[in-house]
Amino acid sequence: MPNRLLLKQSIDAALENTALDGFIGAVLFIDLDSFKNVNDSLGHAAGDELLKIVCSRLTKLTKEPDLVARIGGDEFIIQLKDISTEMSEALQIIQSVTESVLKTISKKITIEQSDFYISASIGIVLYPNNADSFKLLMKRADIAMYQAKSHGKNCSVVFKQQMENVILEKHKMISNLYKALEKSEFILDYQPQINGKNNQLVGLEALVRWRSPNGQTIQPNEFITIAEESGLIIPIGYWVIDAVCIQIKSWISHFPILPYITINVSVLQIQDVDFVKNLSQKLKLYDIPAHLIELEVTESIMITEIDETVKTLKKLKTLGVKLSIDDFGTGYSSLNYLKKLPLDKLKIDYSFVKDITIDIETKTIVKAIIAMTKELDLEVIAEGVENEEQVQLLMQMGCNNFQGFYYDKPNSPAYIEKNYFKK
Ligand code: C2E
Ligand code: CA
Ligand code: CA
Repeated sequence: MPNRLLLKQSIDAALENTALDGFIGAVLFIDLDSFKNVNDSLGHAAGDELLKIVCSRLTKLTKEPDLVARIGGDEFIIQLKDISTEMSEALQIIQSVTESVLKTISKKITIEQSDFYISASIGIVLYPNNADSFKLLMKRADIAMYQAKSHGKNCSVVFKQQMENVILEKHKMISNLYKALEKSEFILDYQPQINGKNNQLVGLEALVRWRSPNGQTIQPNEFITIAEESGLIIPIGYWVIDAVCIQIKSWISHFPILPYITINVSVLQIQDVDFVKNLSQKLKLYDIPAHLIELEVTESIMITEIDETVKTLKKLKTLGVKLSIDDFGTGYSSLNYLKKLPLDKLKIDYSFVKDITIDIETKTIVKAIIAMTKELDLEVIAEGVENEEQVQLLMQMGCNNFQGFYYDKPNSPAYIEKNYFKK
């Protein structure tokens, strides 16, 4: 099968020609989905066999002058040459080839009497409109392919200029986040958690903000996802833990009774091998009683590496910190994990609280969640409470702790001291 070099020659030639004859061509970047899993679970020999089968199917599907090349482990390119001079016709033909490719790859594959099913994600770039060089063409095909992956795999995406803009924006954001870390541009606000029966402060949730150099405060919704995608959430997360410890240490010396402080922790942080050690060192370094710290993790921690995760959470428990499930009800569908994890608390997601007084089904679900926490001996808190009606209803159901604008917004440490702490 042609390799990258042959493909480059073919595309270089095509780019020269199409500029003259007005024909549209296209490149289909085909990447097998989850091929690594096949290799890991069945061994490399079976993986090779599978690739051969895919090669032969793709070759059968295409005819002269089109070209199929293999450019990496499980990456293939189909170059469709001189498709049409009409854009609409070209797009139709490309679509039909793409459908055939997805179909032929998804057909049953038999290796050593075992049956397998595999799928592919396809990025498509048209030329000469979208690229005047092999390099640019491949880069854009790659961008479109990643879009296909993020659309749930087993599909195709045609490259559009705005995809590149989005990626450029992301890169800019990532490099700015790096700088923000170096220059300590993050700050923490704290949002009160209140016992609705006596209106006493019970906890504070630490929420990170980014004070950008131009004086703007950027909210976490605008950068946490990118921080997670780029792995930067790990150093940012360590900064948050450090900042919370410093804050508690300062508060301890001024105020005799402190609420617990909750810290949001991403899946990636939990999976970081140094997480437990680092937290334990921080608690010692600043002399923080562990029971003042509660970690909020989302249900998504149960999606991968469950055994490892359970181990890590158990270690965290032995440090003495509390564990809470954030955004409860929005994520993982199996409740089985609730029994496996050493949890202290569930935090009912804002989206349920929002509808609880309007929608009877939501009300039923929330009632069931609260009843379940009692059965499992877990604490429960509702987040995003915005009015008295929600508070009353939740208290009737047995939930007494609340966080939300009805009580207070996230605020600076100075505001918290002034309004909540007694000397
Ligand atoms: P979250 O953990 O669910 O935090 C609660 C968010 O809901 C906060 O937004 C808070 O301001 C907002 N909120 C509180 N009460 C109400 C209410 O009554 N109504 C409405 N509409 N919203 C309310 P914020 O501070 O913008 O944080 C957004 C998300 O960013 C957090 O959601 C959390 O997932 C993430 N995040 C914040 N800080 C950190 C952090 O230090 N580490 C990590 N990994 N994630 C963080
Ligand atoms: Ca949270
Ligand atoms: Ca939440």
